[in-house]
Amino acid sequence: MPIQIMPTFSRRAFLKANILGAVAFVTGDAFALEGVPDLRLALMSDTHIPADRLPGARGYDACRQLSVAIPDVLATQPDGLIVTGDMARHVGNVADYKVFLELIKPVTDVMPAYLALGNHDNRDNFYTAVKELQGNLQPVQDKHVSVVEHRHVRIILLDSLLYVRQRGGLLGKEQREWLDAYLAAHTDRPVVLMLHHTLGDGDNDLLDTAFFFDLLAPYSHVKAIFHGHAHAWKRYEYRGIPIISLPTTAHIRGPEQPIGWVEALFRNDGMDLTLRAFSGNRDEDGKTVSYAWTMPG
Ligand SMILES: [Zn+2]
Repeated sequence: MPIQIMPTFSRRAFLKANILGAVAFVTGDAFALEGVPDLRLALMSDTHIPADRLPGARGYDACRQLSVAIPDVLATQPDGLIVTGDMARHVGNVADYKVFLELIKPVTDVMPAYLALGNHDNRDNFYTAVKELQGNLQPVQDKHVSVVEHRHVRIILLDSLLYVRQRGGLLGKEQREWLDAYLAAHTDRPVVLMLHHTLGDGDNDLLDTAFFFDLLAPYSHVKAIFHGHAHAWKRYEYRGIPIISLPTTAHIRGPEQPIGWVEALFRNDGMDLTLRAFSGNRDEDGKTVSYAWTMPG
């Protein structure tokens, strides 16, 4: 039995998603979270859900594991869920997304879910399967870019999917130019960026990482970047910006890594990130890392 929770501040988003239906696709719920004092989000990545629901890489059972995580997410009463890509197991079939949506339904029944695309997703199939995209959708050609608006922070979900099942990713020139213009026009609040791909100069990383960080350099209101892809819980700094690598809920590549998700609290002066590890290495389960920031005068 899924736990039925209707958090006060999620009710608006829930009603809007249900009343507006297809209209939500166009408008998103841009301001639904504006009234929330602090923003609480459940952050997930690399759920790798298969249509056949069978265990996959190294015997890890992605469907069962996501099912284990969902009641935990609901119990923390977040205002929304974010998944930074690789929702699907291999190539992003429509049937994969249907199972994914079914598994997260207890969450989407009561709060918005903001989804970014990874290299095991297929953009067209994703659009076919996901009828009500949440977030303030942005006009970037052939990319799924959305913004979660909150009084404390703007969270931008970027699209780094280049080729399905090829490992490297790319924002591309148009998305980078859009981001540059967006950041220049929205300087009154901290911005947090989220995308699927790892950052660096490796062939499996975001291939335009250098251009991406060149464009970010003038914008001191960009406070952190989250990514998935690595299936690793890791915090580090890259060219002066705090980077957070989100854990997977599916398969890990070594016993030192947790399987889980992250409970995030965005305050007006920073964020707290608490690991919720339900399998794999649980040493850091329940531990919180905090980041502090200020807005430039
Ligand atoms: Zn993955």
